Amino acid sequence: MSEERTYHLDTLAIHAGQEIEPTTRARAVPVYRTTAFNFKNSKHGADLFALRELGNIYARLMNPTNDVLEKRLAALDGGAAGLTLSSGTAAVYFTVTNILRQGDELVSASNLYGGTFTQFDAILPNQGITVRFTPVNDFAAVEAAINEKTRAIFIETIGNPVLDVADIEGYAKIAQAHRLPLIVDATFTPPVLLRPIEHGANIVIHSLSKWIGGHGTGIGGVVIDDGKFDWTDPKFALYNEPDRGYHGLRFAHDLGPLAPIAFTLRLRTVGLRNQGPTLAPDAAWIFLQGVESLPLRARKHSENALKVAQHLSKHPKVAWVRYPGLEGDPSNALAKKYLPEGAGGMVVFGVKGGSDAAIKLVDNIKLFSLLANVGDAKSLIIHSASTTHSQLSEEDQKKGGLGDDLIRLSIGLEHIDDIVGALDDALTLV
Ligand SMILES: *Cc1c(COP(=O)(O)O)cnc(C)c1O
Repeated sequence: MSEERTYHLDTLAIHAGQEIEPTTRARAVPVYRTTAFNFKNSKHGADLFALRELGNIYARLMNPTNDVLEKRLAALDGGAAGLTLSSGTAAVYFTVTNILRQGDELVSASNLYGGTFTQFDAILPNQGITVRFTPVNDFAAVEAAINEKTRAIFIETIGNPVLDVADIEGYAKIAQAHRLPLIVDATFTPPVLLRPIEHGANIVIHSLSKWIGGHGTGIGGVVIDDGKFDWTDPKFALYNEPDRGYHGLRFAHDLGPLAPIAFTLRLRTVGLRNQGPTLAPDAAWIFLQGVESLPLRARKHSENALKVAQHLSKHPKVAWVRYPGLEGDPSNALAKKYLPEGAGGMVVFGVKGGSDAAIKLVDNIKLFSLLANVGDAKSLIIHSASTTHSQLSEEDQKKGGLGDDLIRLSIGLEHIDDIVGALDDALTLV
């Protein structure tokens, strides 16, 4: 047997990143409820502060529980390093501001998670960062939006609200040609379904609150770094100018052997350390429980969602259905390429009778929970136009393909006959 066997994702999900803690030999990952960590002596403390040695200092910036989760998720995504944050939203914000500063520009697909769209459209401009939105997979528009101020490209693997699949390799080609990092929010397609780094992503973001946690029990986010992007181009000022936030360190030049993970080190030492969006270790522990069964659950969510989509597409009261895994869906070819293990747990559809019928269905359905979340073991339902995407103007809603009849389903792990039965019962009422 080879000594360096590479494990499958199912195995990594259960073992990666953990070394048995030598004092107690606890088998499960312990929760380290501590604010700070003892230095061995002053020199040890000084070495840790100067990044001459990596180790625990203070739990705002690192914690051994979070460390296991970070290493495990980096392993699942095939990345070089990971960093957990207090929410997926924080993961997006601190990723962008770990690359861009005032005057810089981001080119983003427009079919974003509602909260991210608002952050890019209404918050970042106040900080002097311009986001240029382009329709997903419109590569001519992406090329046209890139200029000398562009510092990154941002996409989601499966977008809102109609679940278009991004052609990651098409984006990666453009990003590479312009020497820009490609940031991919892969929340809707956790690692067993899709590993964006294999398709050219440099930075992968997940909200842990969704399928990775998997049980609707916590808020968190993670950023995975491919460890390959070259930050020495002077246009990345935050990596090439001496950092006033870290005693003049130039992150692209002064990290020695840690240079490949300059992005993650900066995110930790500037983002976490001085802006403070830390994930509590108790939450990290909850997410670790989710990760152990993630491969099983991700496949089952996808299997159930495909059956729901197939069933709805034949239902006489259903006007339209979108699911990337559904034969004939506009995203089906991309799903076949990028999502061979399953196209995820989200299904959207419209009922004949429009908005009124949609609201009636949502208000009367059994089994499904009416709430604003996705990626729970429980099946969830929402009317997007009046809730998750209600901050968007009607024009932006239309641009995103969001009709007011759209019903969003996050398909859970209940028995498929019960899920389909609940939908059928509710459809008889509209
Ligand atoms: C939920 C979600 C986020 C935000 O994550 P939170 O953990 O809720 O802050 C970002 N992107 C996508 C695609 C999401 O589904």
